[in-house]
Amino acid sequence: MRTKGVIAMVISGPESVSYLSGFRGGEGALVVSDDLLVLYTDFRYIEQAQTEAPEWSIRKWGRDAYTQLAADITKELRAGRIGFEAHIISVANLRRLQKGDLQREWYEMSGVVEEIRAVKVEQEVISIGKACSIADRALEAVLPYVVPGVTEAHVANELEYLMKKFGSETVSFETIVAFGSHSSLPHAVPGDRTAEAGDFVLIDFGAVVDGYHSDTTRTFVLGEASDKQREMYDATLEAQLAAVSGARPGMNGSEVHEIAREVLDRHGLAETFGHGLGHGVGLEVHERPIVSPAGKESLEPMNVFTIEPGVYIPGVGGVRIEDTIVMRDDGVEMLTSFPKELRVLPAKG
Ligand code: ZN
Ligand code: ZN
Repeated sequence: MRTKGVIAMVISGPESVSYLSGFRGGEGALVVSDDLLVLYTDFRYIEQAQTEAPEWSIRKWGRDAYTQLAADITKELRAGRIGFEAHIISVANLRRLQKGDLQREWYEMSGVVEEIRAVKVEQEVISIGKACSIADRALEAVLPYVVPGVTEAHVANELEYLMKKFGSETVSFETIVAFGSHSSLPHAVPGDRTAEAGDFVLIDFGAVVDGYHSDTTRTFVLGEASDKQREMYDATLEAQLAAVSGARPGMNGSEVHEIAREVLDRHGLAETFGHGLGHGVGLEVHERPIVSPAGKESLEPMNVFTIEPGVYIPGVGGVRIEDTIVMRDDGVEMLTSFPKELRVLPAKG
């Protein structure tokens, strides 16, 4: 940060606040400089902040939080640029900072903490691994609920309940359960559609441990799988396995994406794979590194990300197979481990 003449930074993204300070209240901001570590939060969280962030000096802020923060900065920090997270702070709060300290240059710094967060330490990988194990176990436990006549929303609710029962703090994101042709929408919202024999059943979900997320997708067939469904499934699985075994540190996200796309291309299905191969996972379910055609930076050991190719054919349905993995020195280590061969669920009832 010093290289740009920045003497301090205001951090306001809740995940970055938590990452740097340990405070998980979700409401607050940090001021970080060489000789200042201040955590601002409101009165509801003071006690929690003192417990979770013992190295930080905790200050209570009131209604006009950023005006107060700017006044403190004016008093306590020498002249120089102050960095702020342009992708996170609201325009109203930025104006409060600027109005409070007219002598300052406020310097846009986006993604600084996110870049650090992309490279995990072992303790973070352990937390993500625990979330992945809870997700694996909950998925197995929810499958008996997937029978003809059940709604997508019902299966999604059961799965979320099971993850919490098995120790998940919350859910990573709104669980996706999509039946039949609905599964061709990569971000389908579960509704009152009911399952029928012959449907694809796509389930995309995640658990949370210590604030860290998991992200898994599996696709099943209810009743008997058609030749078309098997073809779509086998191609997606081949693409997923190729990317998992081919990804190495030093490759960029775009190159790993290309491994999967090439496999689908050989099956004539590349056109049906419309999204990026994956994304970083951590305190946020979508974070750095970038694992898509836009990913130009090298992947590094201790990056945690997903590998999730998909094939979507409108009117027929979609297949997506997604694992959360950690990059090691010699390649990928799986964190999710639910089996991936095509599983046909019994269409009883
Ligand atoms: Zn997912
Ligand atoms: Zn994902």
